[in-house]
Amino acid sequence: MAAGSADRILLHRLESLQRAGVTHLIRRSPIDVCAVDEVSAGVEQETAPSNTDTKKTDHVPMIAGSTHSDQQGRLDVLQTTVAACTRCEELARTRTQTVFGAGNPNARLVFLGEAPGADEDRQGIPFVGRAGQLLTRIIEACTLSREDVYILNILKCRPPGNRNPLPEEAGHCREYLNAQLAIIEPEFIVCLGAVAAHNLLEMDAPIGRMRGKFYLYEGIRVLCTYHPAYLLRNPAAKPPVWEDMQLLMSEMGIELPGK
Ligand code: SF4
Repeated sequence: MAAGSADRILLHRLESLQRAGVTHLIRRSPIDVCAVDEVSAGVEQETAPSNTDTKKTDHVPMIAGSTHSDQQGRLDVLQTTVAACTRCEELARTRTQTVFGAGNPNARLVFLGEAPGADEDRQGIPFVGRAGQLLTRIIEACTLSREDVYILNILKCRPPGNRNPLPEEAGHCREYLNAQLAIIEPEFIVCLGAVAAHNLLEMDAPIGRMRGKFYLYEGIRVLCTYHPAYLLRNPAAKPPVWEDMQLLMSEMGIELPGK
């Protein structure tokens, strides 16, 4: 490609990002991450929802362009590979089963946690314990369902005693995460908690400072917020999470009741 043509494409891309509110870019190896610092301006605080009786309203369809069955088929093949994985010796030895991920293979929105817990390890499904039930209520308060989104974790195996993933374990499993994202091609990722945010974005800021703004990961807009398990221990953190969800829904073009 001629240099002039490449420059024009780059200029067009930068103008597009600027219109989307991106104020600066940070180069990180091996990925590029750019923070959108201004996006949180004007977000109103509101009490987080505490029940699931929010009715579904008309909203932007969660199905994007390519075919659902193709993507499900590719995820199924990848899931078979993951189920036999023994890259992390301790995790492969102690897990009941791998927890690959669940939801719409063509989702616009992905929720990313850190690793399966005991309930997830037993059932093979992500976010099914108490924290998972709270996540379901948060999703439903956004007028969505678990079938609209995709839910997955940094690690596909439960760390013993629910300890945090080790860096080498996250490194081993990163290929699977990236492959899942490449198949699903979401527009948005919500990192649930510091472990997910730090691993995906290769940052180490406190989650309280990372939330409320968008980052870019491989062209996907990323929002970080508190983990539902943290909300169970600290209900005072619910309003900031609801602010984050309101911001996310606004960026996704999804209207919330009463807004
Ligand atoms: S955590 Fe990921 S890389 Fe490690 S054994 Fe499980 S599936 Fe393999």
